[in-house]
Amino acid sequence: MPRPISATIHTAALTHNLGVARAQAGASRIWAVLKANAYGHGLLRAAKALQAADGFAILDFSEAERLREAGVHKPILMLEGFYKAEDIALLFRHRLTPVIHSIEQVEMLEKASFDGKLDVYLKVNSGMNRLGFAVDNVRLAWNALEAHAGIDSVTLMTHFADAEGEGGVAAQLQWFNELTQPFEGPRSAANSAALLRFPEETRGDWVRPGIMLYGCSPLGFKSAAEIGLKPAMTLHSEIIAVQHLQAGEYVGYGRTYQASQEMTLGVVACGYGDGYPRHAPSGTPVLVAGERTRTVGRVSMDKLSVDISDIPEAYVGTPVTLWGEGLSCDEVASAAGTVSYQLLCALSPRVPVVEA
Ligand SMILES: *Cc1c(COP(=O)(O)O)cnc(C)c1O
Repeated sequence: MPRPISATIHTAALTHNLGVARAQAGASRIWAVLKANAYGHGLLRAAKALQAADGFAILDFSEAERLREAGVHKPILMLEGFYKAEDIALLFRHRLTPVIHSIEQVEMLEKASFDGKLDVYLKVNSGMNRLGFAVDNVRLAWNALEAHAGIDSVTLMTHFADAEGEGGVAAQLQWFNELTQPFEGPRSAANSAALLRFPEETRGDWVRPGIMLYGCSPLGFKSAAEIGLKPAMTLHSEIIAVQHLQAGEYVGYGRTYQASQEMTLGVVACGYGDGYPRHAPSGTPVLVAGERTRTVGRVSMDKLSVDISDIPEAYVGTPVTLWGEGLSCDEVASAAGTVSYQLLCALSPRVPVVEA
């Protein structure tokens, strides 16, 4: 028998979640964001389940090649544009839409010999201060791209730093609108959080949801279930050993947990080598035989321990859900001081994936 851990990808949930995004997006078109192997769900699998999207957003040329080879004909947005002048030929070969975010990229486009026409995105830095043109050179970039004989259309784009948080989108949106007001072109700004929280103001012509498609909530104050999203990944394993502890005994590396009374532990075949966060503290929620309990002690590479003192039927072979159906990945992530994005895309290649 294989080691009893697997991740189930619920393809119907992906399709359902795209429907939720579609309802929020109104008449705007949707780039389904598939970067990081579709947030751990499998690039081609997700592209198929999300085929009702209007296009796919990715980062890597190898991902673009895989999508095209699999027969995907939809527009593909390259979220970091291109990296080297040699990449420009690939934009034509795979019919890709690059995000142009730096003067260096504009210069490379000006020097390149064009083998057809390109649609491009021009990324404006409205306050995230990661990628994009700021106030001093946005006009320069716009003029250069508009004047380029090989460029068909220029879409104006920005990215929000705190759409889910207290900051919201107002200041960035105002700055984006001011910076781009002189230019005529389609607009794209919303990630999942902006699309869910501020759909009217942010949706523009194209929205770019990622995390919500995978059934997680970017909003701390509203759960995925409350939004109507369904988990697209369930990480399952089983108990492979049982330990009975006396009061005062310790559990795991570093002896970070001490039993205050007699307790029964299940040892689960799942650890940080599978993508489970090592920094998840004792008390992180977990389901054993469908019942909610908690982890105890430090997560090791291949195993973690769970408290089964109050689940008498739990024994070797009892199923365990680490996150997914019945236990939101957002909740596990939050207990571990991180976000569901990280848990999903950290799923280790050694975990077998099953489609349901
Ligand atoms: C990752 C990403 C998105 C999607 O963000 P979510 O929070 O997952 O919805 C949208 N736009 C850009 C530029 C991104 O890098």
